[in-house]
Amino acid sequence: MKTEEVTPIKIEKTTSSRIGQVDFDKLVFGSVFTDHMFVCDYVDGRWETPQIIPYQPLTLDPSARVFHYAQAVFEGMKAYRDDNDGIWLFRPDENFKRINRSSERMAMPVFPEEYFFEGVKTLLKLDEEWIRKGEGNSLYIRPFVIATEPSVMASPSNQYKFVIICSPAQSYYGGEVRVKIADHYSRAASGGIGYAKAAANYGAQFYPTSLAQKEGYQQVIWTDANTHEYLEEAGTMNVFFRIGDTLLTAPTNDRILDGVTRKSVIAIAEANGIKVEVRPVKVSEIIAAAKDGSLKEIFGSGTAAVINPVAGFGYGDEKFELPKMDKPYASMIKKLIVDIQYNKAEDPYGWRYKVE
Ligand SMILES: *Cc1c(COP(=O)(O)O)cnc(C)c1O
Repeated sequence: MKTEEVTPIKIEKTTSSRIGQVDFDKLVFGSVFTDHMFVCDYVDGRWETPQIIPYQPLTLDPSARVFHYAQAVFEGMKAYRDDNDGIWLFRPDENFKRINRSSERMAMPVFPEEYFFEGVKTLLKLDEEWIRKGEGNSLYIRPFVIATEPSVMASPSNQYKFVIICSPAQSYYGGEVRVKIADHYSRAASGGIGYAKAAANYGAQFYPTSLAQKEGYQQVIWTDANTHEYLEEAGTMNVFFRIGDTLLTAPTNDRILDGVTRKSVIAIAEANGIKVEVRPVKVSEIIAAAKDGSLKEIFGSGTAAVINPVAGFGYGDEKFELPKMDKPYASMIKKLIVDIQYNKAEDPYGWRYKVE
């Protein structure tokens, strides 16, 4: 988009950092935030006054349209500190493009590239101390856009706020994950907003997920809304299946989020001689493979955990356990990606982005 009038970011620093109160060894994901935030407002048809201010509540009119019509999109990305104190992002251009694809779908204005990158970099420089060294430690970055115009008229807002907040994160082991294959509820419909990182997609998942949790599962594997015959995503992650030595994952479509980690898993797997088939994956073939022993692994992929192995799954009244593999693809591929993220390995793909 045109960025004729790019104004420099105004910075107001905090007078008292909260970092001393944070126990970095006992972080609960997404609950602690750094000292500063980036904000930029869309008024009169353009984004103006990008600023960084101390982390604080937003004040919105109760009629702001985000509260009534869910015009809200977000992104999730991470910053990593290497052993020489270099700070890195992983494929941030993908997140930038995706937040604008999401915004377009929700009839929201796209955000200028320059503000996005300058906003992220300036914020990371200011809150650099919050990015801890050591594998598993990272800073989760959450850009989001909300409709702020005061009015309950059911039409797109004329005012928006773009915000970036950051939360220190540790790698965590949440225990074994068992998933329920959806046969009634769906996450997204054809022609809908499944491919957008829209806040509403998440709100809609909570109820069916809580039903699965009552049955003892941690997450739902979403199937296509029309037939429930095809496997699409696992919770809020993309999903991979290993049958024999082949990895299977569904092609992206308008019901599936085009994950940065998914793309990276496919590229890394192929570069390491693993056969990957990107094609519709049928529930029936996974059940058959589970029964004949050729189903070796299921894992989810996403920025938060990179790769999350699945220990077992349920379909209807049947329950299946996955074998414990000696050298699972999940851990092998995860290590290859994490080593690039933390600047511990060559990056032939050009995925790493230095923050300086
Ligand atoms: C964010 C998200 C993913 C993972 O995307 P990454 O870019 O890999 O973090 C997958 N599925 C859904 C529904 C998501 O919202």
